[in-house]
Amino acid sequence: MADFDAIVIGGGLVGTAVAYGIARLGKRPVLLDEGDIAHRASRGNFGLVWVQSKGFGVPEYQRWTRRSSDTWTEFSQELLEETGIGTGHERPGGVTICLSEEELDKRRRLMEQLHIEAGETNFDYEILTHAELKKMLPAIGPDVVGASYTRYDGHANPLYTMRALHAALLKHGGTYVPNARVESIQAAPNHFVINAGGRSFAAPRLVLGAGLGNKALGEMVGLNVPVRPVRGQIIVTERLQPVLPMPTLMMRQTVEGTIMIGESREESGFDDTTSPEIIHTLAQRAVKSFPFLRNVRIVRTWGALRVMAPDGLPIYEQSSEFPGAFVCTCHSGVTLAASHARYYAQYVMDGALPAELARFSTKRFDVQAAA
Ligand SMILES: Cc1cc2nc3c(=O)[nH]c(=O)nc-3n(C[C@H](O)[C@H](O)[C@H](O)COP(=O)(O)OP(=O)(O)OC[C@H]3O[C@@H](n4cnc5c(N)ncnc54)[C@H](O)[C@@H]3O)c2cc1C
Repeated sequence: MADFDAIVIGGGLVGTAVAYGIARLGKRPVLLDEGDIAHRASRGNFGLVWVQSKGFGVPEYQRWTRRSSDTWTEFSQELLEETGIGTGHERPGGVTICLSEEELDKRRRLMEQLHIEAGETNFDYEILTHAELKKMLPAIGPDVVGASYTRYDGHANPLYTMRALHAALLKHGGTYVPNARVESIQAAPNHFVINAGGRSFAAPRLVLGAGLGNKALGEMVGLNVPVRPVRGQIIVTERLQPVLPMPTLMMRQTVEGTIMIGESREESGFDDTTSPEIIHTLAQRAVKSFPFLRNVRIVRTWGALRVMAPDGLPIYEQSSEFPGAFVCTCHSGVTLAASHARYYAQYVMDGALPAELARFSTKRFDVQAAA
């Protein structure tokens, strides 16, 4: 039996960020991961660190997302210094392109509302005309009517981010155990024992950061985590000269030069395959926005499964039945990686979640069920 300060289940972006954050505090976490057979959103996502359009009607989510985005530059720099691995993070701002007056009007109303709801946090944005956007992104086509812009948006390479987080976890003395699927948890308040991967682990803190696996794991420690898969399909082009100086919601150019085009939202259960119809729709919209793409080769497409709560918000909770057990799950694990490493890890070790995260409690599902 190996004793640790915390057991974190799930070696994707969420679990690894929390485990690294715990190790960074000078504590000893062990990170258990199922392995390559699992569905892993962290290896198939779009890589945006995105703020605009997050938190409509839920200002707490907008604030939490902004806080993470504000922390990302420092977080990325620290990972680079500690591991020599760059996350490729940039924060040049970002735009959401609109292809009709109707889309732009809807967008304008959304951004106005987000601005109002932000209150004293403030939320700066601009609605850009075609001509204004053309100055920022000269490659747009004539069908683009306008866009919304915020300076808070950016992007990163999610795979390098994962690599950096794993390396930083080990550097701080954390333990990583791959091929360790957790099937059962022996739980008592502030005492958890897990047998996985042929070994036994014990700790006073437990964090469920296992993505879609959290639903089953939550039941073992009295946590209701009703996440479901939502598929997203992505297209990747051949490498090009720099042509997109900032990400858009549906397209970004990576540091290597490829253009990523995304991303659908489909209720497809655990099916993560691609379909020609969806890829066609994504490609059509991309070519309308940026006509030069018509002559660019597609080199890859893939599908991956988002980890989605019924209301699309993160789920952060400590079990009342088994204090010391926490869940941390969300559908924007790249964007929120900095918050999970810097803040959530601290809350776990302090043994309490702050009031600012109360909106993300599992209690909201009880209210919905009762209603
Ligand atoms: C198409 C697509 C595009 C996206 N784009 C963006 C974006 O632009 N920006 C953004 O911020 N987010 C984006 N996301 C969301 C982001 O990828 C996820 O929020 C994030 O990856 C979730 O990470 P996770 O660690 O919770 O889950 P996962 O990556 O799924 O990892 C879960 C891990 O838990 C392990 N596990 C599961 N069950 C067990 C068990 N019983 N025992 C041990 N281990 C277990 C698995 O092995 C796996 O490694 C996108 C997602 C998709 C699918």
